Amino acid sequence: MMEAFRNEPFTDFSVVSHKQAFLAALSGVQAELGREYGPIIGGRKVTTGHKSNSVNPADTEQIVGVVEQADQELAEQAILAAAGAFETWKQVTPAARARYLYKAAAILRRRKHEFSAWMVVEAGKSWVEADVDTAEAIDFMEYYGREAERLAERQPLVRITGEDNELVYIPLGVGVVIPPWNFPLAILAGMTTSAIVCGNTVVLKPASAAPVIASKFMELLTEAGLPAGVVNYLPGPGGEVGDYLVDHPLTRFISFTGSREVGLRINERAAKANAGQRWIKRVIAEMGGKDTIVVDSDCDLDQAAEAITLSAFGFSGQKCSACSRAIVLEEVYDVVLEKVAARASQLTLGQPVEASTYMGPVIDDKAFAKILSYIEIGRSEGRLVTGGEKGDPRGYFIEPTVIADVTPTARVAQEEIFGPVVAFLKARSFEEAIEYANNTEYGLTGAVFSRNRMHLELARERFHVGNLYFNRKCTGALVGVHPFGGFNMSGTDSKAGGRDYLLLFSQAKVVSERL
Ligand code: GLU
Repeated sequence: MMEAFRNEPFTDFSVVSHKQAFLAALSGVQAELGREYGPIIGGRKVTTGHKSNSVNPADTEQIVGVVEQADQELAEQAILAAAGAFETWKQVTPAARARYLYKAAAILRRRKHEFSAWMVVEAGKSWVEADVDTAEAIDFMEYYGREAERLAERQPLVRITGEDNELVYIPLGVGVVIPPWNFPLAILAGMTTSAIVCGNTVVLKPASAAPVIASKFMELLTEAGLPAGVVNYLPGPGGEVGDYLVDHPLTRFISFTGSREVGLRINERAAKANAGQRWIKRVIAEMGGKDTIVVDSDCDLDQAAEAITLSAFGFSGQKCSACSRAIVLEEVYDVVLEKVAARASQLTLGQPVEASTYMGPVIDDKAFAKILSYIEIGRSEGRLVTGGEKGDPRGYFIEPTVIADVTPTARVAQEEIFGPVVAFLKARSFEEAIEYANNTEYGLTGAVFSRNRMHLELARERFHVGNLYFNRKCTGALVGVHPFGGFNMSGTDSKAGGRDYLLLFSQAKVVSERL
């Protein structure tokens, strides 16, 4: 029996030995830049001849890795390999399956800084953000391993005389896992291992912006001894292989984290039963957010300003949990705005390999152009208070940006920007603030700063988000502590890192025997 789950501690980089260890990991990664990676199907490395470079978003001349791209033919092979492996993997006991996750978590813990260092160069994460990502990946594996063991315990059914009844959770089949680039290790590891620990097999299509870190994770699963074909690794262009995998009649479920647009497309395609298909596909989607921090007139204004700054600009706002709107009561609006602007202009924007960098680049040229265009929209819809400019031209740097005096229906108050931009809105009453907070199509995270118990209770009831925080930031959900996932267009209401999660990858079978 494993000890009880505990969250992996974060690294304190003010300790000299930790800083040195991280610098050593970064040099190790530098020495490995530009290596080749590619699909792994049924345990075999496959070469395709069609290569794509993964570049460092902080220095676009630097090639992090060269990745062989899969096509539809390989997608077909990957599905068949997963379907083949399912026949044996489904018979492995949950406890034995969980042990692969514990083993993978143990390896990752030993190689923690190495994995984090890859995220610094491939995703542009600061040291702290990368370290948190790796810790969360460890957490997901430790947590889902224990959850699989818990679900394997006999359910307490109501007993009747003369019958023996039993409920067991059995796997679904072949899953297509499509993780995002913004938590390229944690969410990828969580989505993949939650599916396999339930007895499913997987085709894993990594995000195009972070295939090297995904390849490293695939290597780690192999090192942990995972049987061939349980996870089939398929880097490739979403347009070419994504639809093919989703549409395939042998695909039983699709687990997706990413944009609303792609999530809805998957949901629609998955709804169609194709020739030879014997089930209704399940879609588990975690999509966007337009997350709000509400600041009441009676609260600690410094704490509120600090939380807005951290939630809006951590990892350049590229979290679906990021604060992209601050709705502030009019009595304290100017003070909070000034405090956030002052903090934002102090943040160090720079090369993430430097320990002192708080904020690195955004992920790629598309994101760069999109965020800059939203800043232009924001200038016309409100007042640019700080930021708004590009940084170091070697990469996709954008300054932390604050746009004030925005109306609740403005585009920058409604649409997900996924960058370092926060819009300020003024409210006349607390009720109005909550009403504005709820007026988007999303419902992922939110926070309220208040000392007023009545207001907190009102928010508890009416603020319609999956993860609501009081008097703290709205990012940084911890596995097991804050099961994570949102309402409405934020997804299918799932809760990653919570006790309900594994049920999404399982089905219950009841056997009743008359005695
Ligand atoms: N779980 C993360 C958090 O609480 C966000 C995940 C995401 O951006 O997809 O900050």
